[in-house]
Amino acid sequence: MAAELLQDNKSVRANCPECKGALTTFESPATHFARQRTHAIWDHYNLLKCAGCGRGGLSWVEQTKTSTTMGQATTYKLKQFYPISVEHLTLPKSVPAELESEFREAELVASVGAWRAGSALMRSTLEKALKHSGYAKGTLAKLIDEAAADGAITASRSARAHEDIRVLGNDILHDDWREVSPNEFETSRRYTQRILEDLYDDRPGVLKLLAQKGRSPADKAT
Ligand SMILES: [Zn+2]
Repeated sequence: MAAELLQDNKSVRANCPECKGALTTFESPATHFARQRTHAIWDHYNLLKCAGCGRGGLSWVEQTKTSTTMGQATTYKLKQFYPISVEHLTLPKSVPAELESEFREAELVASVGAWRAGSALMRSTLEKALKHSGYAKGTLAKLIDEAAADGAITASRSARAHEDIRVLGNDILHDDWREVSPNEFETSRRYTQRILEDLYDDRPGVLKLLAQKGRSPADKAT
């Protein structure tokens, strides 16, 4: 979950890495300084501390003053927060190290709000997982369809793999720039995790199935 500015416009609700990633409040002690960036914008820097463990945190809050017909309005926006806490989803133990690394890097970049980069890496994780299981030739669309036809992934999972991982990833790689929302990334992350579970939770069983279907996975028993 992304860090969130609380109503006092100073405290931040965020996951604390030293509270095992728990969602806590980083409260505002006295240390604060600000600079004026433009005539309407001020940058505020607050040194905060976790209410749970006392660990320090630093927020950058942007204060914008706008003139309206009703008078002046002031808005506050959390621009950055440190420490970053990366929340990891659990993956099956038999997921190969390079696949796990790709998935973790997607989570890492998403933890700083790089939703496009994170979603593109989820698409890459899906493609690499299918290739590792012997679905190696053709477009990603074809690989997903073949894995579903074999029963290596379920039909409903294949529909989500197309919609929420492949199409999103292709939009990012090949289409005009557009914003990707945190929710889109999260959906793609959840379904990538579930497909890794399909393929690796019971790897010996899946290997047996792949052998029956004439596939040659990279970890095939010799
Ligand atoms: Zn803490």
